[in-house]
Amino acid sequence: MADAKVAIPVSEESSPYPLIARQGAANALVSIGDVVFGGSEFVVIAGPCAVESQEQIEHAARMVQQTGGRVLRGGAFKPRTSPYSFQGLGLEGIEYLRRASLKAEIPFITEVMTVDSVEELEARVDAFQIGTRNMHNFDLLRAIGETRKPVMLKRGFGATLKEWMFAAEYIAKGGNSNIILCERGIRSFAPETRFTLDLAGAVWAKQESCLPVIIDPSHATGLPQLISPLTRAAAAAGLDGVMVEIHDDPSQALSDGDQALTMRQFETLIRELKPVVEAMGRRMENV
Ligand code: PEP
Ligand code: MN
Repeated sequence: MADAKVAIPVSEESSPYPLIARQGAANALVSIGDVVFGGSEFVVIAGPCAVESQEQIEHAARMVQQTGGRVLRGGAFKPRTSPYSFQGLGLEGIEYLRRASLKAEIPFITEVMTVDSVEELEARVDAFQIGTRNMHNFDLLRAIGETRKPVMLKRGFGATLKEWMFAAEYIAKGGNSNIILCERGIRSFAPETRFTLDLAGAVWAKQESCLPVIIDPSHATGLPQLISPLTRAAAAAGLDGVMVEIHDDPSQALSDGDQALTMRQFETLIRELKPVVEAMGRRMENV
């Protein structure tokens, strides 16, 4: 059964972020294409870190769709730590994504990095991703707030939970309430994992706001072997979905190959996840 649209509750003076604050049991439902976040479905977003070629992204889109993923991911504008690393294919990559998404009949999400590119991308993408490094970019938050596109807002890796809520409020204040929150790991003192998945913070965000909350265990851990267990933990904790990176040959990936799941590992993740989702009274489509 399709989930009914629920309007985000009207503000209450007492909340510092009234447009996104939780008031009672009503969850905001956010759709990317025909996929609804925040309702009864636990949603899996998957794809490569970066779009590398038309063939690569088409293959990934097909795999994601066939395996039970519901939204395709892929970066065309990449915020890389080193200026010498692969920076993404830019608008050409967006076109590859669009074609792959249409062919596999699966919507896609991709990162937007600059205010200047918002208008151009708005007409071409199904959903925006705001990356961890841009969570504090208030001009970008305002510009996305002026659109009506769904947006996944990642938590800054050094941001407090309240700063994350305020960033979402910036978007909502422009009139765009189609916001999905994504916990992607924060910086801690443990070098064994790339970042530290703040699962408690993600559950806090779910209770504090009416917005859908998902996790990104790929960037949070950097370790493929931790991705499936943490995805199950997110489902068991009542969160709304997951975003994972996959690659058909991680050793050849142009970005984040070390943390990419192989297609086979992705199939295992889906198989291991389903009983947990169902035990929580939720469902997975196409699995
Ligand atoms: C990504 O999703 O590819 C990405 C760059 O994520 P983050 O902003 O969380 O580092
Ligand atoms: Mn990545």
